[in-house]
Amino acid sequence: MAALRALRALPVTPVTLSSRQSVRSYASAPQSSGAFSWPAIAAVAGVVGLGVYTFLPADKVEKIEDKAKGVAAEVQAAKQGTGSWGALIKDKWVPFELASVEPYNHNTKVYHFKFPEDSKDKVSGIPVAGALLVKMPEGENEVKDDKGKPVIRPYTPISTSEQAGSLTLLIKEYKDGKLTPYISSLQIGQPLLFKGPIVKYKYEPNTFERGLCIAGGSGITPMWQLIKHSLDQPEDKTKWTLIFSNVSEQDILLRKEWDELASKHSDRLKVNYVLDKGPRGWKGETGFVTAPIISKLFPRQEGEKVKAFVCGPPPQVNSVSGGKDGPRQGELKGALKELGYTEEEVFKF
Ligand SMILES: Cc1cc2nc3c(=O)[nH]c(=O)nc-3n(C[C@H](O)[C@H](O)[C@H](O)COP(=O)(O)OP(=O)(O)OC[C@H]3O[C@@H](n4cnc5c(N)ncnc54)[C@H](O)[C@@H]3O)c2cc1C
Repeated sequence: MAALRALRALPVTPVTLSSRQSVRSYASAPQSSGAFSWPAIAAVAGVVGLGVYTFLPADKVEKIEDKAKGVAAEVQAAKQGTGSWGALIKDKWVPFELASVEPYNHNTKVYHFKFPEDSKDKVSGIPVAGALLVKMPEGENEVKDDKGKPVIRPYTPISTSEQAGSLTLLIKEYKDGKLTPYISSLQIGQPLLFKGPIVKYKYEPNTFERGLCIAGGSGITPMWQLIKHSLDQPEDKTKWTLIFSNVSEQDILLRKEWDELASKHSDRLKVNYVLDKGPRGWKGETGFVTAPIISKLFPRQEGEKVKAFVCGPPPQVNSVSGGKDGPRQGELKGALKELGYTEEEVFKF
């Protein structure tokens, strides 16, 4: 599947943008602002950094400086959500049409949405493990939340941040969910409304020794980006443990990709699948992700610097870490608190 092949090569670009969004409790707003990296920046910085500068005639130096200024302006614009690279707009819903869709498993599909004609050369500009917001267009079929407000949900694309003209989402349908049955019923050419990007967590290599990702169901996509990004950087020595819980084996999203990644980076990544109820001969854990399961799969050592990330359905997030408080992280509770983790050591997506 083309989209999933693209995933393996996912070079996620760190972009940090600010935004003010209001969504359900487990959709978070931005954390802070930060740096934007782009091949052009690297190119310009590389030329300057190599000291070529001193050997160039003045007019060439000027050209390089102009280019660097242009890139800096784009960086600034992108930080403010007004850049010309990004098809997403921070404070405005934009319609992207469904271009094609492929089934992934019994309840999940891969959706390709194309940007409007005037944005076909643009990219989504979503940062590592960042997200965008989605809602359905207004109309008689529009489903509202319990307070009568539009239903808005965050998604982390599986396409690269450099993909131009379109973005790709892997979306699991919850039959009793508010938004996903609508997305699942979309026909080719129909639009969905998008807004963003939103920053979730600004990852810096080597800021903790071991990372623990606890994901449930469709909450896996931010973890995929985060871990893949870290493993792709040779200078990053961070080790990772994934605890991924699902109802059954057929619900495990990106399993092949995870297994390949774990085998390629056997010294840095351990993947553990937890099933509600395992089939005959299942060797992994079963049941809810509890404190004993976490400490068994991710035993902590005295003085070790760790960080735990949590993303999944509300009941799971509540029991693992305590739910979010709107866009804020919310009080740390549940299994991680029981195990002695501090608020600084836990991030809820
Ligand atoms: C950062 C981030 C990235 C994400 N990326 C993806 C992605 O790439 N792909 C993807 O498919 N999903 C992703 N999600 C999840 C996505 O945002 C939606 O939550 C999901 O699609 C369900 O939306 P829905 O409106 O259809 O269902 P909802 O109406 O949200 O319900 C989902 C399920 O949870 C149950 N439920 C809802 N609220 C409660 C509650 N308070 N207590 C108990 N049960 C409850 C419902 O009954 C239903 O079974 C991501 C979430 C986050 C936070």
